[in-house]
Amino acid sequence: MITVEDARALLFDLVEQQPIEMVPLAQAAGRVLAQDIAATRDQPPFAASSMDGYAVKSSEVEPHAMFKIVGESAAGRRYEGQVGARQAVRIFTGAPVPEGADFVVIQEDTERREDLLTITDNPGAKDNIRPSGVDFKAGTKITSPRLLRPEDLALMAAMNVAVVPVARKPSFALISTGDELVMPGEVPGPDQIIASNTFGLKALLEKAGADVRILPIARDTISSLEAAFGLAQGADLVVTIGGASVGDYDLVSEASTGLGMERSFYKIRMRPGKPLMAGRLGDKPMVGLPGNPVSAMVCGYLFLAPMVFRMLGIEQAVPSFRNAALTAPLTENGPREHYMRAVLDETGIRACDDQDSSLLSVLAHANALLVRDPNDPARAAGEIVRYLPI
Ligand code: AMP
Ligand code: MG
Repeated sequence: MITVEDARALLFDLVEQQPIEMVPLAQAAGRVLAQDIAATRDQPPFAASSMDGYAVKSSEVEPHAMFKIVGESAAGRRYEGQVGARQAVRIFTGAPVPEGADFVVIQEDTERREDLLTITDNPGAKDNIRPSGVDFKAGTKITSPRLLRPEDLALMAAMNVAVVPVARKPSFALISTGDELVMPGEVPGPDQIIASNTFGLKALLEKAGADVRILPIARDTISSLEAAFGLAQGADLVVTIGGASVGDYDLVSEASTGLGMERSFYKIRMRPGKPLMAGRLGDKPMVGLPGNPVSAMVCGYLFLAPMVFRMLGIEQAVPSFRNAALTAPLTENGPREHYMRAVLDETGIRACDDQDSSLLSVLAHANALLVRDPNDPARAAGEIVRYLPI
């Protein structure tokens, strides 16, 4: 059995960086920028007023000074003339500061009578002018790779970038395996349960940035599994769920090996999630997840989501753990790394009472995976532990 870290490194070796595609700016949120982009203009493209007021010469600004108003500069419609001695131009926020003016007296510090302006209050030293290019200049770059946030979209729009080079979303095909499974909404037989893993994993992987297809459930026969693998064609990564253990009906290994799967590894020294298998099927990576719902989701967080990030070119693909103080003690850990379902609040973190890997209700209640090293000794309340937010 290999460690979680080694497993992740081997899984990363199976995947490649995604090609680049161009998407309209409005669809670029949450995508990963795949090439540097540069502004094609200065912002603002001219010295602009930051206030509503009057543009004048700074040398003439003092309390009780009087000016003749000679025109108006509005946002989108500049004053074309020059501002001369003892002249003022009515100006609004975002409007170009006219030639000859280098100060905007805010409206609140003035009194206007027809075209006569008087400064009534001390306007201070701030000129209320945004210099040309103060936000960014033509050529200013946004560097890749970068997960694009709403703020980045606003910035790119201001830079006049209308289409954005992003990493194409990796496509995942998810295959549930098991005679006992039916899809949500179907009527299960007396010995059947509902396939749940694919839905949790689809949501998790889409959040990470993948396109995900849920394929029809494969039955526990070689031919059914082969048919499912056939349907997965075209996916960048095939994920099977269940059938990966040592039971008589655990046929994923046999079926995939029969189709020429080259195994990279099988089994990880962790809990839950031990019987994970990975390899290459044709030219595509394949991951066989354990079927227990919590195991499948934990493996999704620890391995599949990082693989998505890796494929998208996000440098920090490895999950980063945080620290918190225990609010309840923990017993000694066994020989495998343990990812305990836990609840984190402002007082600290505590492991959930029942750690059985079939319990989705516990997983759904949890908001963190508390990580225990192999053979970690018993821990008292107050001690600091590592966790992964979920
Ligand atoms: P297996 O690895 O096929 O032996 O599955 C282990 C356990 O997980 C069994 O209790 C299965 O019924 C359950 N299981 C397998 N696949 C799924 C699935 N897609 N959704 C929910 N439970 C599953
Ligand atoms: Mg099964």
